[in-house]
Amino acid sequence: IPVDDFDLVIFGGTGDLARRKILPGLFRRFCAGQMPADARIIGAARSEMDSDGFRTLVRDAIIEFGGDDLSSRRELPDFLLQLHYVTTDARGDGGWKELAAQMRSGVVRAFYLSVGPGLFADIAERLTSFGLADAASRIVVEKPFGRDLETARALNHDLAKHFDESQIYRIDHYLGKETVQNLMAVRFGNILFEPLWNSQYIDHIQITVAETVGVGGRGGYYDKSGAMRDMVQNHLMQLLCLIAMEPPSKFDPDAVRDEKLKVIRALDDVETHHIVRGQYSAHGDMKSYRQDVENERSFTESFIALKLQLSNWRWAGTPFYLRTGKRMKARSSEITVVFKDPPHSIFGDEGGQHHNELSIQLQPNEGMTLDVTIKEPGPGGMRLVDVPLDMTFADALGPEADDVPDAYERLIMDVIRGNQTLFMRGDEVEAAWSWTDPLIEKWQARSDVPKPYDIGSNGPEDALMLMHRDGRRWRDIK
Ligand code: NAD
Repeated sequence: IPVDDFDLVIFGGTGDLARRKILPGLFRRFCAGQMPADARIIGAARSEMDSDGFRTLVRDAIIEFGGDDLSSRRELPDFLLQLHYVTTDARGDGGWKELAAQMRSGVVRAFYLSVGPGLFADIAERLTSFGLADAASRIVVEKPFGRDLETARALNHDLAKHFDESQIYRIDHYLGKETVQNLMAVRFGNILFEPLWNSQYIDHIQITVAETVGVGGRGGYYDKSGAMRDMVQNHLMQLLCLIAMEPPSKFDPDAVRDEKLKVIRALDDVETHHIVRGQYSAHGDMKSYRQDVENERSFTESFIALKLQLSNWRWAGTPFYLRTGKRMKARSSEITVVFKDPPHSIFGDEGGQHHNELSIQLQPNEGMTLDVTIKEPGPGGMRLVDVPLDMTFADALGPEADDVPDAYERLIMDVIRGNQTLFMRGDEVEAAWSWTDPLIEKWQARSDVPKPYDIGSNGPEDALMLMHRDGRRWRDIK
């Protein structure tokens, strides 16, 4: 179903994120017939170029990042005709009048700020002073949304001077993933799970976001940030919220976000021995974290594991274990809900110990499996085995699954539709920083030194111990 006609201005339209994700994603929506024939995508950035130059840049980006299937699509020339470009200086007056002249009235206006947060205030102000934005316009902002509570508040304040909260779309692309939404469908669309979704039946929950890449070319930024700010405060926190929240009364942006906010507010302070920070060591010709960021005295974590507890009726007594890191064994993002053992085994020792696990994979492939215990087939007596019940939507949908949009494209279409459900609200972001800041201060006050871990491993030994001490273990990173 096509969305309403729109003009989308991408500030930072020549940058890495725009070329890697946003523009190939928009082309995929174009191919799927979701973009109206007159919709305009206007690149606005510092680089001097004209619309033809931008079209060449976007074509090259689609070839480089879109994969063979996308770049060979015959729709490409038509898509490129919908692109325009205006050289615009976010901090000065250059380009703004030309940009205003490019925009049509009577269509949805969206402004995607694919630039560093240092430019949010300048752009928001000029969008109003040059008359580009009106009360119906939407503004999309990228992470990082601040580096602590104070800076996040300042960004919220700067945006609020020119835009109402209902116009602001703070992107966390993890929320755009099909399986993340499927998680809500599984929880609230079935009678099976919700009665068991509490500390009486769930032993613990694990969230892992493992990356194989190092800090790449972002060393300068990353070393001032670290895994806690870069991943936990936003992506892992959002996943935790969706897993732990109470059922919203309806699938409506504020109803969902109200419930997520309550989860963040129910998080306990984390004890020092429930935090494990790590840094990857050099291996062969692969550099260590400190070499990558060119700071031999860096105490920033490239890995973090945490044991969290929520103080509310549903979750008291059920820990949440979170871990994320770079240069780990495999690229894998997964949420695992580990149910308790049945209270009594009628099969005795022969049956062994069994429990159910619901595992939600977000990366590299999206899918869901539920481990159920059955009898091992054959004549061997009443021996039990756990087999995964595969709930992967791609298998269920067959070829139609190829049309499932990736996170960025889905979220951009939601912006055009005016649906904020999968975007973070200002108070949510501030609450997440209110919880994050004291933890960071805690380890900074002790001058905590991150534990070394091998490249290609599961992280530092202490992270494994965090679970072992409780008689539990992390699910294998595959
Ligand atoms: P980038 O450095 O590759 O691109 C920055 C863009 O901003 C360029 O188009 C540049 O021309 C433009 N720009 C810079 N200063 C400007 C000015 N004064 N006036 C007008 N335009 C100006 O950065 P990026 O990697 O594309 O990241 C953009 C934002 O998205 C950042 O906030 C980043 O943290 C965030 N982000 C990036 C990624 C990613 O994969 N690259 C992922 C998540 C979030």
